[in-house]
Amino acid sequence: MKRRQGWTILLSLCLCLTGCAATVGGVAQPVDPTRVAGLEITDGASGLKPGVLDAGLPVDGGDGGEIDKLAANAVADVQRYWREHLPAIFDREFRPLTTLVSYDSGGRGREICGASTAGLVNAFYCSGEDVVAWDRGGLLPTLNDSIGPAAVMAVLAHEIGHAVQSRLGLPAAAPSIVKEQQADCYTGAYLRWVAEGKSPMFQVSTGRGLNEVLTALFQIRDSAGVAYSDDGAHGNAFDRVSAFQFGFTDGPARCAKIDEREVEGRSTQGGFGSARTNERAAAENVRLDDRQALADLTTSLRQAFRLAATPPTLTTGAACGVTTEDALASYCSEANQINLDLDGLVRIGTPPRRGRQGGIGDFAAFAEVASRYTLALQQEGGFRLDGPVAAQRTACLTGFWASTIVDGGALTLSPGDLDEAIAEMLTRNSLIAADVRGRTLPAGFARVAAFRDGFSSGAQESCGKKYR
Ligand SMILES: [Zn+2]
Repeated sequence: MKRRQGWTILLSLCLCLTGCAATVGGVAQPVDPTRVAGLEITDGASGLKPGVLDAGLPVDGGDGGEIDKLAANAVADVQRYWREHLPAIFDREFRPLTTLVSYDSGGRGREICGASTAGLVNAFYCSGEDVVAWDRGGLLPTLNDSIGPAAVMAVLAHEIGHAVQSRLGLPAAAPSIVKEQQADCYTGAYLRWVAEGKSPMFQVSTGRGLNEVLTALFQIRDSAGVAYSDDGAHGNAFDRVSAFQFGFTDGPARCAKIDEREVEGRSTQGGFGSARTNERAAAENVRLDDRQALADLTTSLRQAFRLAATPPTLTTGAACGVTTEDALASYCSEANQINLDLDGLVRIGTPPRRGRQGGIGDFAAFAEVASRYTLALQQEGGFRLDGPVAAQRTACLTGFWASTIVDGGALTLSPGDLDEAIAEMLTRNSLIAADVRGRTLPAGFARVAAFRDGFSSGAQESCGKKYR
């Protein structure tokens, strides 16, 4: 996140126009906060169903251990999905993969598709030999242990997504970001089928299970500074999660529509100048206990949301009216103020150092405060401030605020900022998607979907119409 440097008056005028322009589209359908893309929110276990028989796919180089079993069965299940859906949706037969390879990145290495696997902590598809390969020593056990089996399912589904696009005739020379976004989208389509209970082998819950998938997408995001148009780009977390959600919500036909123009129109993975500038900008972390930072945040909120009444003031103080522990910010409607736990906010606003525990990053802290500010706006609009719909509307309006932070305003988004919002929304106590009492929407999927709605709507009114 960057603070303003000059040009204030002229550019804040632009911001105001963005904030005030009401582009009223069609009538928005209300979104049910107790569901995830139409499915009930569940919190059960994810992974192989208990007692399922091994699919018995041959694995070249495997050690027959638990991870290889999980991976090979996931491949079998994803292939079953495509055997049904490729003919039904694209009128093509699905030819199974030619070879599955398991390797240990910590081992001596072997050559697959012209590359050595020594030290290759990865999973990949190569179209020339129609191979899906995975690292059973490093990548998959790490994902399985630190996140959960749904993360492993997602990785294999992603790689087979590449096999699908090759069968559908996407040219090998297509930009990497198109291939990767499509593969994330196909992953969503497959996991929807599993979440609907249609897979004979696997299960995934829409709450905890999909949180695992989104966490995996966050962890394997491009680092801040990579632009979507760069060779080898996979997408920042915000764009990867978007593609996944499109597939989950709308199915594989939506995924096939992802092309260069479509990505260009919605990508948030900007390259502001050179990679070095990007890295420097991403490393600039603004602390909320800096008085100027708080003043800039207040300015940006007042510009984004025009209140008829006096806007609330940002002040330090004990949490007000919340039922959860650890609420770092709270909206006190009677006192018309937002009480901040500055130490706590600085803690989550400080990114983790390499190999050490830490918070998330400045944007996570700023967005938590912004989310409480939107409650003043909701109160003025006559909306209920408590309950899951209020939590959704809050995420939507916070997303809208994020979309008004444009170059040259009081605050400027740095590469990686929106990914910090994603990380915040995957925490148990996410305030971005919480009601006035600090109660968070139960599914990460629903939190992020509401935030993106507001971010891409260009009109704050749409949040009140859709989340009511
Ligand atoms: Zn990929």
